[in-house]
Amino acid sequence: MKYCRFALNGSAHYGLVETVVGSGEEEITRLLLQPPHHSDGDVESLPSRRMDRIPLVEAHLLAPVQPSKIVCVGRNYKEHAAELGNEVPTEPLLFFKPPSSLLATGGTIVRPAISERTDYEGELGVVIGRRCHRLDENEDVRPYILGYTCVNDFTARDLQKKDSQWVRGKGYDTFCPVGPLVSDEVNPWKGVQVETRVNGEVRQSGNTRDFIFSLGTVIRYISQIMTLEPGDLIASGTPEGVGPVVAGDVVEVLIEGIGKLSNPVA
Ligand code: MG
Repeated sequence: MKYCRFALNGSAHYGLVETVVGSGEEEITRLLLQPPHHSDGDVESLPSRRMDRIPLVEAHLLAPVQPSKIVCVGRNYKEHAAELGNEVPTEPLLFFKPPSSLLATGGTIVRPAISERTDYEGELGVVIGRRCHRLDENEDVRPYILGYTCVNDFTARDLQKKDSQWVRGKGYDTFCPVGPLVSDEVNPWKGVQVETRVNGEVRQSGNTRDFIFSLGTVIRYISQIMTLEPGDLIASGTPEGVGPVVAGDVVEVLIEGIGKLSNPVA
């Protein structure tokens, strides 16, 4: 199952995305009449309406999630912790990005003038499908996951270092590009390759096999603190290779089975 959110005739809709047999191209084939996180995991069974198919590459895509919160994991890959001179954490390190920081693929990341160093962080995003609260120690988290997407945990690195809370460094408007779609056809437990390119050049290439804390550990841990609601987004941490971008650059986060999240920087 794959779905997106897109603009059509001035309003926002969720749409089912299917791959055309033969060409392999992705098209939006049905309008979903309820948000996919109301589906309890079975998006195809949601009430939907037929529509004129739109090739995904021609659609005006919006951020595919409308979360009540965005919970991020810091330093969840050993090599990334080391490259910024940090110890490997002994329990998950969490922080928030505000929903106001969301940005669709194609949207422009706006660097604040006050920052002298802004970095990309390509990550696998997890979309929650069922409310979860205080999961048991060994409970399988997969029934609570609706799907996966690409996230760029964009960061004003100098402000993050200066402040003990990361609200500024992580929270500016446009600092959370997400998309292009949500898919449940990838398996982070088996290993999902997360790649980031700047102006076409590969800068990060990590695999979710190398997580310090598995998604199970992370989601169970978060659920002890706060109730995760359907539609909430978790950014699972970035692999090594983070670095700065400047105005005029284009950042892409690519995950096989999900697609390419592409954003120019201003
Ligand atoms: Mg990050």
